[in-house]
Amino acid sequence: MQTQETNPIVIAVDFDDVVFHLNEPFAQWHNVRHGTNITYNDITNFDLTLVYNIELSTIIERLDVFRTQHWQNMTIVPGALETLVYLKKFASLHNITARCESLRPVTEEMLRTHMPNIFTKLHLTNGVTSLNHNKKLSKVDICNEIGAFVLIDDNPYQINDFTNSNVTLLVPDRPWNQAQLPEGVIRCGSWKNPGTDWQDILKWINRNT
Ligand SMILES: [Mg+2]
Repeated sequence: MQTQETNPIVIAVDFDDVVFHLNEPFAQWHNVRHGTNITYNDITNFDLTLVYNIELSTIIERLDVFRTQHWQNMTIVPGALETLVYLKKFASLHNITARCESLRPVTEEMLRTHMPNIFTKLHLTNGVTSLNHNKKLSKVDICNEIGAFVLIDDNPYQINDFTNSNVTLLVPDRPWNQAQLPEGVIRCGSWKNPGTDWQDILKWINRNT
């Protein structure tokens, strides 16, 4: 998945819970499949082993099952598509996700089906996987490589990687990133008002381009 782009402005965008909802539909599936009773509001920690009280290897396994077999339950985050279509007029958009290589086919299919011709390239960093640890990539390294000046990502806890970079981390507000954000991270919108995150992201990008 790669198209030719010549825009000098490059914007990087995370996949899960930025353009497609993951945590909410995953919780709904997990409740039925594994007998839990987790609501969206309960997901107050980025570390899902603490939310579900299970081992990391188990949560990774279940996320992989959900993301490969039940991905049709993952809907587009309100405002994401409209904003990306607008940004695409003057910027190259790259998707950078912690998903592992084995999820590339399904991830590409989701983008092809619901967001065709939006992203120049999909980058998978192998950040959340029990496999391929030796192939784990840094999101900020990819941002530098492609010339992105901003990354939109619901994970603010990677800010240390960004400290000495020229890449700004914009974080859409979510229940799992309510702790005080590390210095340098910019919070966008309110998770209680769906769509406001993308409105704030657009305002910030318009002010800084
Ligand atoms: Mg994410």
